[in-house]
Amino acid sequence: MNKIEHIGIAVKDLEAANKTYEALLGVAPYKSETVESESVTTSFFHCGESKIELLEALNEESAIAKSIAKRGEGIHHIAFSVDNIEEEIQRLSKQGFVVLNERPKKGADNKWVAFLHPKSANGVLVELCQEIE
Ligand code: ZN
Repeated sequence: MNKIEHIGIAVKDLEAANKTYEALLGVAPYKSETVESESVTTSFFHCGESKIELLEALNEESAIAKSIAKRGEGIHHIAFSVDNIEEEIQRLSKQGFVVLNERPKKGADNKWVAFLHPKSANGVLVELCQEIE
């Protein structure tokens, strides 16, 4: 694991949250992107070497909608950047972590992503991500 690539925050209203985080971080979001496969719209902010990802659900089926219904808004996942996501999936599976998608999938911000079940990591949904070359 190289570093915390970003922290994902579930929000109800992306436009309002963009304004809040722009005021907080002192920078505007550098990109906004809809990921149909995940039923989310995201926006990304730079914060030093890390990023903040805001996620708004596109519909009620979205994992983000379900998370907000259960726990309200707030931190949804922590993403770690890795050099070789396939190797990391293998390594972590062998150690007993529950990988939610054994095959990396295309996530936001030009990344291959895989998620570990929160029960594997003390209640934290962990995202592994690798830049798509
Ligand atoms: Zn993320």
